[in-house]
Amino acid sequence: MTVTGESNHQAGLRLTAVDAELLADSIRSAGLKVTAPRLAVLRALTERPHSNADALFGAVRTELPGTSLQAVYGVLTSFGTAGLVRKIEPAGSPALFERRVGDNHHHIVCTRCDVVHDVDCAVGHAPCLTPADALGFDVRAAEVIYWGLCSSCQAAEHLNTTNP
Ligand SMILES: [Zn+2]
Ligand SMILES: [Zn+2]
Repeated sequence: MTVTGESNHQAGLRLTAVDAELLADSIRSAGLKVTAPRLAVLRALTERPHSNADALFGAVRTELPGTSLQAVYGVLTSFGTAGLVRKIEPAGSPALFERRVGDNHHHIVCTRCDVVHDVDCAVGHAPCLTPADALGFDVRAAEVIYWGLCSSCQAAEHLNTTNP
């Protein structure tokens, strides 16, 4: 029995040509029927982690011209329910989707150019899953978004301030 989100070909994939059979396996092992729109959305997500629905729609449309934005939203919702994708919602940005699920990783977002990167959870004696007081909750997930300036934006700001 495959545990959703823990198949070893999932995390951090950045392939240009993703094997359709691997994609179909992931969809099946999440308990979903394999359909052309699901395959196309999963492929687009594998190639572009942290994409919003519009960006995925744009990518899917080149592969399946008949697909509607509504269909992409439908696929993303079923993937989310099945635990196949994770949705993150940085303030002021549309929801972003990714295939890296189940590891409680966090995100770092540039306030200037909106670039998003994965950040691993701080591990060791004080994992961020453990709040100072859980108020009796059985905590299952913690989401941290670090905000800042990415290195290229820092370089750009530096240029702006040093050039008169
Ligand atoms: Zn930036
Ligand atoms: Zn991520």
